[in-house]
Amino acid sequence: MAIVTQVHLKNFRNIPELNWDCSPHCNLILGQNAQGKTNLLEALYFLSNTKSNRSSQDFELVTAGELPCTTPAGSETTRNPKTEGCLIQANVQRLGVHTVSTQLEAKILPATQGKSGWRTQFRLNQNPVKNRSQLLGQFPTVSFYSTDLLLLRGGLPQHRRHWLDAATAQLSPLHITHLANFQKVLQHKNHLLRHLHSPHLSADQQAVLEVLNTQLATSMGLVIAGRLRYLEALVPHFEASYAQLCAEVETSPSIHYKVAGFSKVFTTKTTASLAHLASLTPQAWEGLYHDRLAQTLGLECQRQQCQTGPHRDDISVELGTGLLANRFASQGQQRSLVLALKLAELALLEGHLQETPVLLLDDVMAELDPIRQQQLLHHLPKQAQVFITTTHWEGDATALLQTLLRDNSPLTVWEVRQGQLTLKT
Ligand code: ATP
Ligand code: MG
Repeated sequence: MAIVTQVHLKNFRNIPELNWDCSPHCNLILGQNAQGKTNLLEALYFLSNTKSNRSSQDFELVTAGELPCTTPAGSETTRNPKTEGCLIQANVQRLGVHTVSTQLEAKILPATQGKSGWRTQFRLNQNPVKNRSQLLGQFPTVSFYSTDLLLLRGGLPQHRRHWLDAATAQLSPLHITHLANFQKVLQHKNHLLRHLHSPHLSADQQAVLEVLNTQLATSMGLVIAGRLRYLEALVPHFEASYAQLCAEVETSPSIHYKVAGFSKVFTTKTTASLAHLASLTPQAWEGLYHDRLAQTLGLECQRQQCQTGPHRDDISVELGTGLLANRFASQGQQRSLVLALKLAELALLEGHLQETPVLLLDDVMAELDPIRQQQLLHHLPKQAQVFITTTHWEGDATALLQTLLRDNSPLTVWEVRQGQLTLKT
């Protein structure tokens, strides 16, 4: 079982400084809108996943604007977080046969002198970490955000890909490295395509694009094989969770992965089964991508963008009736499907790690009707450490939350106001 014991933040979004001794059970974080509830959970998500769930640029997490402070001599002045950077630190305990304590740290800092931009430094037990993937798996979490409800209706394919990649990386940390390598080469290729003055390539341009396509095919193969293996393992848990949530009155829904850039042969919904696609090795995918990228080079030069690859893939869910969930599911069905996906993610991670991850629940109570609130809380592991945010809290929900707690320990209620956290009970 994983437990966060302490959190230290500095210049993190609207939180100037925070030293937080968390409860090992249930931490209920109360606060009005825009006070910093989601920011607190985002800090934990960041350390767990080495990226934010809502910003693709780390520097956005650094507090904007000047902050008031007092000099050692006692006079009032201001400090600038943009020059200081931001610190996110947590101590995590893994309770197994032996208790292992780990300190995770991220610093988002302005680039060193003479360079522009930002850099993010990670440390594990105070030792610098070269690669983000070394931190993944150190602090397992499963999060439920109100925005997860957008995984189906109204959500964009990039949200679904982001969710799938983050979930895959929790199980296979190397996935984040494969993804970063892929994105680096993809950016390079797209930059080159955007700056072509004519769709007719010179010999040099042709040679560079061929080299990039070879590198891309390798990294695309690794990314898609990782995602499909994860999704295949998730499906039985998803079906079981959905059956539980809707008391088995509906036929099982199914999940499909749409491979972009190929003919529909590669969409699990039409011909190939998920099991078949997941059985293809990264090398097999590499070969397929290699051929496809060569075939579409002319088109890509015209459109000045890479047309094939996992950056355009998508996931869809089909109801037991065969209808697409994002277009035809009722509101209740959509919410249950998303909950089932999330509970499946939790079950899979728990089974894989043989321990309970930390749960981050952001404002989910507001978005779920009372029946689904109950379903969610009843299906969460009783012993898990939970961080749950809400703007208001009613008696019934408190009683429900108590059912989550291992030994009826009291809820620890925190209040956040303008980025400052205080203990309420
Ligand atoms: P809600 O109940 O509406 O979800 P919340 O308490 O979850 O509110 P947060 O999303 O945590 O609110 O945001 C709190 C505040 O932090 C907001 O006013 C937001 O504009 C501010 N904020 C976000 N990023 C930064 C940043 N980089 N610098 C300073 N403030 C920021
Ligand atoms: Mg919020």
